[in-house]
Amino acid sequence: MRLEHRVALVSGAAQGIGQAIALRFAQEGADIALNVRKDDERAADTRRQIEALGRRCAVLVGDVSRVADVRAVVAGAVEQLGRLDVLVNNAGIEKRADFLDITEDDYDRVLDVNLKGAFFLTQAFATHLRDSGRGGKVINISSVHEELPFPHFTAYCLSKGGMKMMMRNLAIELAPLGITVNNIAPGAIRTPINAKLLDQPDLLQPLLAQIPLRRLGQPGDVAGVAVFLASADADYVTGTTSVVDGGLLWHYQEQ
Ligand code: NAP
Repeated sequence: MRLEHRVALVSGAAQGIGQAIALRFAQEGADIALNVRKDDERAADTRRQIEALGRRCAVLVGDVSRVADVRAVVAGAVEQLGRLDVLVNNAGIEKRADFLDITEDDYDRVLDVNLKGAFFLTQAFATHLRDSGRGGKVINISSVHEELPFPHFTAYCLSKGGMKMMMRNLAIELAPLGITVNNIAPGAIRTPINAKLLDQPDLLQPLLAQIPLRRLGQPGDVAGVAVFLASADADYVTGTTSVVDGGLLWHYQEQ
């Protein structure tokens, strides 16, 4: 097991990529602090699966876009599990809107959840590590859209592009504290965030044609890379993005 004696906080962990990471970390021996927006059946089921693996699990309800909530989530996790070693900034949303139509509320919501949430969760986590004199690891779930334009999703792209620069800055600024900071940039992964796309063959087929490996990713494809970045094998890795996209980002074909 690669994460024994580690305690990991995963934001937005009741479904999709966050849940898959929480479960893989638990399989690798980590105790898990699950941040969820609401304590519903998905959270209870995830907790049951983690405890069935023999690991401890704390469920922390909090909206990552609220600074008071993220501080309470970190404090609650430390109180219940004793410490934190790894943070996965996974919580994220996307809203489709033409640039000329997007509302201030939708812009704010996407930036507040995806970027401000990760920013202040990392601040609270790094403060905990500094105060306890230990290093740790931050893993941000960004997107291929930290690089790749995605028309009609400009706010989403801003949030993920911002996450890329946040990661690069913090890799340097937090290095003296022994904290590594890396991004994972998924391509198209089969999760509820893509529900509309998955239900519409006329949208799905053109996307698959853009993916050299000719399939959508599974949440487990992302979780495997997260385990590596959280493990001692990645102690000398910081300031990087691992792209997990079946080749989508740099796919180019002459017709
Ligand atoms: P998902 O299935 O929609 O899961 C997102 C999770 O985040 C949900 O559990 C959601 O909780 C939670 N969340 C949303 N707003 C939150 C908030 N304010 N505070 C706390 N939790 C919140 O999506 P996913 O595909 O697993 O996405 C996870 C991350 O991967 C996101 O950052 C996304 O941008 C990124 N990503 C996904 C893909 C993909 O193709 N799936 C590709 C690239 C990047 P509720 O359901 O209760 O709202």
